[in-house]
Amino acid sequence: MTIRLYNTLTRKLEEFKPLEQGKVGFYSCGPTVYHYTHLGNLRTFLHNDFLKRMFLANGYDVRHVMNITDVGHLTNDEDDSGEDKMEKGAARDNKSVWDIAKFYKDEFLRDFNDLNMIAPTVMPHATDYIPEQIELVQKLQDLGYTYEIPGDGIYYDTSKFAAYGALTGGSLSGLRAGARVGYNDAKRNPTDFALWKYSPTDTKRQMEWDSPWGVGFPGWHAECSAMSMKLLGNHFDIHTGGEDLSRVHHANEIAQSEPITGAPWVNTWLHYSFLLDKSGEKMAKSKGEFLGMDAVRNRGYDPMVYRYFVAMGHYQSQLAFSWETMDATAKSYANLVRRVADLITDSAGNVDQAVYDKWHDEMVSVMSDNLKTASVLVMLQEFVKSSDINNATKLALVRFVDDLLGLQFIDRAKKLAALENETAPAEIVALADRRADAKANRDWATADALRNEIDAAGWTVLDGKDGYKIVKKA
Ligand code: AMP
Ligand code: ZN
Repeated sequence: MTIRLYNTLTRKLEEFKPLEQGKVGFYSCGPTVYHYTHLGNLRTFLHNDFLKRMFLANGYDVRHVMNITDVGHLTNDEDDSGEDKMEKGAARDNKSVWDIAKFYKDEFLRDFNDLNMIAPTVMPHATDYIPEQIELVQKLQDLGYTYEIPGDGIYYDTSKFAAYGALTGGSLSGLRAGARVGYNDAKRNPTDFALWKYSPTDTKRQMEWDSPWGVGFPGWHAECSAMSMKLLGNHFDIHTGGEDLSRVHHANEIAQSEPITGAPWVNTWLHYSFLLDKSGEKMAKSKGEFLGMDAVRNRGYDPMVYRYFVAMGHYQSQLAFSWETMDATAKSYANLVRRVADLITDSAGNVDQAVYDKWHDEMVSVMSDNLKTASVLVMLQEFVKSSDINNATKLALVRFVDDLLGLQFIDRAKKLAALENETAPAEIVALADRRADAKANRDWATADALRNEIDAAGWTVLDGKDGYKIVKKA
């Protein structure tokens, strides 16, 4: 099937052509583990997961590398100044840098698993690839791309790389003109960036290493070039990240890598649009106040509701987060789970292969056409309601949607059915009977009080035309 993706580098929707038949290698910039991962970061990681699942549905062998940034990311990315985000996080939490790296990485992995994302093939940590980053800087130095700012570090001279900024269509002079006032004026060009930063002489850093240039730590961009080339080779298919990364981080990654590979490094660049907060701004860790999966879980939402919410949008459009939208999404997800539970209880008959193939191929086709996840959801709504498709076929198709979008409909439907089949203890049944009597006598206050009592005991009464049902709460 033809796969089309929007390539930031060419600013075109392009047919994807793998470097090696049947295989795809892609690198995704991962989290900086100095704080909890927020819903915006997770939106980006979910789009990676949809991308991966689309390739799997097309029969590709997928090699996915996503890094963990645990060093070198300064609070001011653009001019390599400010505090080290990790050291700042450690001071905030009153822990060591190594401890917070482990803590926030584990928290991130919990969110990652709760959101049912497929684990990357390799998840390298920047701190495990220091020799490779030193080697990268050394090579760039040998090729004449670097200079030293005494007392500061080794910098990359962007004027030496003719194609600098190609990713965002910016010429170097344009970028220069647009650069912020007040940048580090020891740099030769505003767009130059640190490859290796020296440790300060007056304080001791928690993370620092020896290098040919003295004790210090790598610049943030070095890790992604060094690790991707080591783990995916000098030329690979796709590189992904949030839209904020294209102008600086990815421009710098290209500038560091292509002089070394001597040829185009990555074929397709995919950038995912931001998740916005309620004030319409980019959700950001640096703002101090942001929402993570804890907020989602604590409010009683199934993590799949957030996944469903993200799947309803498109990666090229910004998406505004609100609890109102989450409520609507939760209803929609629960309705689908309800329908799937009914399909499970009544799925006699055989899968109609011709019907299955038609819907299956159509869903793979819309996903392959620039990852139209929302179109798959529209099709799902359509086929579960269709009176022309038998239940066995519908159930098989839902199973495929679970593979394609990872929304765990079957799992949640089975849990729902199990909860419904559990028989309530006699005292709960007695309360429910009293409630039914109260309702019959139009004594709403007593009926409500009894419902609350049943609820507090972990059960829910569902009223139907033929009386009530008591269901264990999830
Ligand atoms: P960080 O942990 O800050 O290094 O970011 C991890 C990933 O999340 C990167 O690919 C960022 O571009 C992406 N990202 C950051 N903020 C947002 C946002 N509000 N919406 C979507 N992606 C984001
Ligand atoms: Zn990166």
